[in-house]
Amino acid sequence: MMHRFFLREPIANTVTLHGDDVKHIGRVLRLAPGDPIIICDGNGSECKAIIRSIGKDSVECECNTPVPCESEPSVSVTLYQGLPKTGKMETIVQKCVELGVYSVVPMLTQYCVVQPKESFSGRIERWQRVAEEAAKQSRRGIIPQILPLVRLESASFLDYDLVLLAYENERATTLKQTLTGFLGKRIAMLIGPEGGFSEEEVNRLTERGAKSVSLGKRILRTETAGMAMLAQILYEVEK
Ligand code: SAM
Repeated sequence: MMHRFFLREPIANTVTLHGDDVKHIGRVLRLAPGDPIIICDGNGSECKAIIRSIGKDSVECECNTPVPCESEPSVSVTLYQGLPKTGKMETIVQKCVELGVYSVVPMLTQYCVVQPKESFSGRIERWQRVAEEAAKQSRRGIIPQILPLVRLESASFLDYDLVLLAYENERATTLKQTLTGFLGKRIAMLIGPEGGFSEEEVNRLTERGAKSVSLGKRILRTETAGMAMLAQILYEVEK
């Protein structure tokens, strides 16, 4: 298996890796000049590369022509996750990155029991590290971004072709029905916290065009619902 490293810039003929990647390559993986690795530009392209030299603070690589990363879904799905009790978000981020999520937005809703403190940015950074590790392990072409915390009542969903509200009390409409014939590119999926969504939230969201959908007759935990819904969406729409 070729190890994968992410740049945050376009891939040139020769690429220099810095920071933690240098230590990882030299001391953890014990790679050497001549060894092959995969380099991703973080924007869905990747290339095979050969390590040319390993220095104290940098690793020089020679790159082949970048190609689209075939592990990226044809549809981008953003998870708006009702802030769950402490300790669950790491699992949600890790599993949804493996399953193909495009980005994750922690979301404050009426029934969230967790109220973020000033140290919240540290939690975002930790979730971003979980996302990067999961992207490498699952051979993603991007590192899904963990976006800043939003309040549901002030979130804008105008950029999406479809906004799916997973509502535990929805009886009429299934996810499958809503996805039938979908040809767009950008989906937002909203998952409530342990206490679910309030009627008021559901009414306000559906008035603004969100589609309330059922994920089936069983009530899933908040940490299960996002990954289950994401898997079902990509099963249905991914080419
Ligand atoms: N308070 C709710 C109850 O006990 O009836 C449970 C909320 S559930 C733990 C958390 C979130 O997962 C829900 O707000 C919803 O977004 C999603 N969810 C769980 N089961 C679902 C289902 N069968 N259909 C649609 N959404 C579901």
